[in-house]
Amino acid sequence: MRWDEGFVFAPITARVIFGHGTVAQVGAEVERLGHRVPLVLSTPHQEPQARALADSIGGRVFAGAVMHTPVEVTQQAMAAYDACDCVVALGGGSTIGLGKAIALRSGADQVVIPTTYAGSEMTDILGETAAGAKTTRRDPAIRPETVIYDVDLTLSLPPGLTVTSALNAIAHGVEGLYAPDANPILSGMAAQAMAAFRDGLPQVVADPGNRDARAQVLFGAWLCSTVLGHVSMALHHKLAHVLGGSFNLPHAETHAILIPHTAAFNAAAVPALLAPVAQVFGSVGGGLWDFAQRCGAPLRLADLGLTKADLDRAADIALLNPYANPRPFDRATIRHLLQDAFEGKRPQD
Ligand code: NAD
Repeated sequence: MRWDEGFVFAPITARVIFGHGTVAQVGAEVERLGHRVPLVLSTPHQEPQARALADSIGGRVFAGAVMHTPVEVTQQAMAAYDACDCVVALGGGSTIGLGKAIALRSGADQVVIPTTYAGSEMTDILGETAAGAKTTRRDPAIRPETVIYDVDLTLSLPPGLTVTSALNAIAHGVEGLYAPDANPILSGMAAQAMAAFRDGLPQVVADPGNRDARAQVLFGAWLCSTVLGHVSMALHHKLAHVLGGSFNLPHAETHAILIPHTAAFNAAAVPALLAPVAQVFGSVGGGLWDFAQRCGAPLRLADLGLTKADLDRAADIALLNPYANPRPFDRATIRHLLQDAFEGKRPQD
C-alpha cells in the first residue's frame, strides 16, 4: 500500500524479546508482570520441555493443549489454572490458543514462547471449537502481554511443519497487503517477512539445524504475526477456518495449500496491492506455488483426506457469514478455487 493514499495506524504494543537462549528470561518476565506461580501450557508432545521450564521458574504444568482449542480442553485447563496467577504458553498456535482461552475467561497475563511460525502470539484473535464448529473472536484481553522468541527452540521443529508453518505465516502477510485496514508500515513489514522466508526457508529445509537461517525465518514469522494482529482477515483465512473447524484439517497444511490459490484469486482484482508478493516470489499465485513446491510443501487438499462432497459443503459454509475481500465472489467461484486446491493445480501467474 502507498503512503500517499492516506492511512490510519494504531500500533499495538506487546513486549517482545527475540534471540537465542531467551527462554532463560521467562522467570524474570513473569516476575516483571508481578506474578509468582505460572501455569505452563504445552501439547503432550512438548510436555518434557514444559516440565523443565516449570521446574526452573516454580510453575505448574497443563500439557493437554490440542489443535483448534476445543472448549472441553479449556475447561480442564481452567481447573488447573485455579492454583496459578498467570499463564506461560510454550509451543505453537494450539498451545498459545489455550493460553488465550484462559486469559479471556480469567484476565490472566500471558507470557508466550512460540515454537512454530503460525503467528498467534501477536494477535488478539482466538479461534475456539465447540460442537464441531470453529468460531473466531477478537478481544484485547486475548492478546499476550509478553512474547519471547527463542530461535533455539525452533531447531527441533520437524521439516514438514517448518515448511507448512512458514507458508501459514506468509498467508498472514499476504492478507495484510489488501486488508481494508492495511497501511504502508504493515505492508513494508509483510514484504520484509516474505523476503526473509524466501531467503531463509530453503536453507532451513536443506539444514534444519542452521541457526542463522532459523533466526531469519523466525524473524519473518514475528513480522507476519504482527501484521495479522493489526488487520482484518479475508477470503483466505475464512476458507482455512472452514476447512480446519468443520473438516478437522490440519491448520498449517491447509493454509500452505490454499495460499497460492487465494492470493492468485485476489491478485486479479488488486494486482498493485499484491505487487510485493510478485517482487519477492516472481509472481503472485504461481510464484507462491513454485516456492511451496520447491520447499516440499503439500499442494493438494485431496492429500489431507478431503473428499469432493466435502468441497461442496465447504463452499456452502464459506458463504454463510459475509466478510470483506478485495474481489467479490459467489459460490461457483469459491467451489472452483477449492477444486483447484483439491487437485493441486498451479495457479496462473
Ligand atoms: P500446533 O501448535 O498444533 O503444533 C503442532 C505440533 O508440533 C504439536 O504437537 C506441537 O507440540 C509440535 N511442535 C510445536 N513446536 C515444536 C518444535 N519447535 N519442535 C518440535 N515440535 C513442535 O501447530 P500450529 O500450526 O503452530 O498451530 C495451529 C493452531 O494455531 C490452530 O488451532 C490455529 O487456529 C491456531 N492459530 C491461531 C492464530 C491466531 O491468531 N489466533 C494464528 C495462527 C494459528
